[in-house]
Amino acid sequence: MLRLQPFALKSPQSLTEAVELLSQQRGQAKILAGGTDLLPNLKHRIYGEVPMLVSLRRIAGLQRIERQGDELILGAGVKLAHLEKSELVRQAYPALALTFGEIASPQIRNMATLGGNLCLDTRCTYINQTEFWREALGGCLKALGDVCHVVPKGRNCVAAFSADSPIALIALEAEVDITGPHGERTLLLAELYNSNGVYHLNLQPGEIVVRVRVPIVPNRKLAFRKWSVRRAIDFPLVNVALRIDTTDSGEIVDAVAVVGVLGAKPRVLDSIEAICAGQTMSAELAEAIGDFVFSKCRPVPNVPYDHLYRRDMLRAQARRAALSLMPGQPLSVRD
Ligand SMILES: Cc1cc2nc3c(=O)[nH]c(=O)nc-3n(C[C@H](O)[C@H](O)[C@H](O)COP(=O)(O)OP(=O)(O)OC[C@H]3O[C@@H](n4cnc5c(N)ncnc54)[C@H](O)[C@@H]3O)c2cc1C
Ligand code: SF4
Repeated sequence: MLRLQPFALKSPQSLTEAVELLSQQRGQAKILAGGTDLLPNLKHRIYGEVPMLVSLRRIAGLQRIERQGDELILGAGVKLAHLEKSELVRQAYPALALTFGEIASPQIRNMATLGGNLCLDTRCTYINQTEFWREALGGCLKALGDVCHVVPKGRNCVAAFSADSPIALIALEAEVDITGPHGERTLLLAELYNSNGVYHLNLQPGEIVVRVRVPIVPNRKLAFRKWSVRRAIDFPLVNVALRIDTTDSGEIVDAVAVVGVLGAKPRVLDSIEAICAGQTMSAELAEAIGDFVFSKCRPVPNVPYDHLYRRDMLRAQARRAALSLMPGQPLSVRD
């Protein structure tokens, strides 16, 4: 049985108190939300010694879902299960509600929060293992070693960002509000991530993600698709979101595709607009979108399954996402 190491647990009642506690620990403490990612990683000793966990559970105001004007406001502490069922989310973007509903399992969605999903640690075949297993290989760049087993000559950890909801939210041009020792700031969600799998979040010590703001744009449509081996409970092995903005008659005026599970940072393909602009969605265009995503993305062997097969699956999922945006087609996140 894997045991948790000893740590102090603090449950502040305000963001100010939480930021203060985190700042005092100078980056050594960890934020605890639902714990569905953090606790397994602590059991695997991925972060070494962690003296303190700062729980966000008692902080009022992080659990809100509301619409303010043309924005959907989603608190970082909202449970994925609530987002999946939220009428406000469903009305704004039905595919976004479906995306939340296909993350992990009902039990995990009842614990896991939006903030935790946005800040999910990167994953890799060589790191999400016991310390004993990892030691046999001499560790790696992400913990206790100086080599990457995925790209042996590489100097960068290419562990995969394997969260689903940020892929859909980035496609919708969502922003994140962050609070920290130096006050509040706002980033485009896409800017929250960098390509270093050891620490892929552009957050300073003591900073906390507070909420996500999703613009509600008329004639904006979202599709999201993921592929994993076991449908009931599994991380995605590829995922892709496609967002189009159209005229009233369905002509595409703007488009973007966002792809996850490649490296540590979601890949934003805004150049897809060039093949979509001025067209209405059709089977031919969906085929071209699948081919375009395939040509731009090369998965590496950082998560299970053959990376060349994953690339083929990505093409298929991008095409299916596009097909589901044809008028009258049902939205679906998985086969
Ligand atoms: C079996 C299994 C299957 C899974 N399948 C999927 C899947 O299909 N798709 C998917 O997307 N995810 C999947 N997950 C991951 C799970 O959905 C995420 O772990 C969950 O969203 C994390 O939320 P949490 O509240 O539990 O975060 P925690 O585990 O509490 O935290 C995760 C990380 O985020 C940080 N953090 C949390 N909140 C904040 C905040 N507000 N500001 C800054 N940092 C913060 C924590 O410090 C920690 O590093 C799976 C997990 C398991 C165990
Ligand atoms: S990508 Fe390389 S450095 Fe990163 S976790 Fe995997 S093996 Fe380690």
